[in-house]
Amino acid sequence: MNKPTVSIVAPVYNEEQGVRSFIDAATEIMRKQELPWELLLVNDGSTDRTLEIVGQAKAEIPEIEWVDLSRNFGHQAAVTAAIVHARGDAVVVMDADMQDPPSLIPELIASWQAGHQVVFARRSDRSEKGLRRAGFELFHTFFRYAIDFPIPKDVGVFCLLDRAAVEEINHLPERNRFLPGLYSWVGFKQGFVEYARDDRVAGTPKQTFKRLFKYAFDGVLSFSYKPIRLLGGIGLITAIASFLLALYFLTKRLMGIEVAFTGFTTLVILVSGLGGLILVAIALVGEYVARIYDEVKNRPAYIVKNQSQNPVQPVESSERQAP
Ligand code: UDP
Ligand code: MG
Repeated sequence: MNKPTVSIVAPVYNEEQGVRSFIDAATEIMRKQELPWELLLVNDGSTDRTLEIVGQAKAEIPEIEWVDLSRNFGHQAAVTAAIVHARGDAVVVMDADMQDPPSLIPELIASWQAGHQVVFARRSDRSEKGLRRAGFELFHTFFRYAIDFPIPKDVGVFCLLDRAAVEEINHLPERNRFLPGLYSWVGFKQGFVEYARDDRVAGTPKQTFKRLFKYAFDGVLSFSYKPIRLLGGIGLITAIASFLLALYFLTKRLMGIEVAFTGFTTLVILVSGLGGLILVAIALVGEYVARIYDEVKNRPAYIVKNQSQNPVQPVESSERQAP
């Protein structure tokens, strides 16, 4: 087959209900584009019929390729695998649940053809409700203040990457990935396309709150030293305050003024408050240390079990991100 010009890539995890409609929607749009293309799906250890459905679709649509990971490695790892295995000159990264509308693909491609190398799909609205929505909004507002590095507002993994950006991202060795940050970090000429984030077509969200929490942490910790600096600031203020207090009481004592033994409540509040603050500080340092440990272990971000480009012979059992 000819080398594709555009790769559409998406991770799939237990998407048996929705994956076929995603494939059909993407296929219909790409057939109108008159460019060589491929649709690469990374199966992130699904326990349902997702891979079987993808295989059936490939029999009808030769542009489909798939990569099967050895277990569930999580969204960011699966997307990382998808970007590594994409062969196109432009790679459109998206979720397979139709929350990232395939109808936006032509606009992304047009922006790429106009010379942009990293085209972000920017959400003008999102369909999530309740706690999940509040969580996302809180994170995005807080995130802008928390990072040292400008990352565009309201962007996620949905984007188009030029081959040049893809190569750079593939060479980043880090494991705890926050892809929207990395898209901007690599630089190149950025473009934006607006869209309203739809509801999932089928199934339930596969990203649990726990995973989203880790993802948010990865985002802040891998793009900022501010949390640590904030702690330093609080520590400094506490130290200065305690020095002034000490000076006050010492002077009183030296001048012979009786210090009555009251203030038990104050003591309890101070001791427990400071204790809590110190534990939080240690935990935060621990988060950085845990991430350093993860990076040092140098395990691959994912393991490929099998893939459609090489169906007879399974590929080597592991792939490293870094050369
Ligand atoms: N996904 C994945 N591995 C996971 C969780 C999710 O590959 O461990 C895929 C999922 O199939 C979907 C995309 O990542 O295509 C986004 O997942 P989801 O819709 O659950 O996340 P949200 O929209 O809440 O960010
Ligand atoms: Mg989703």
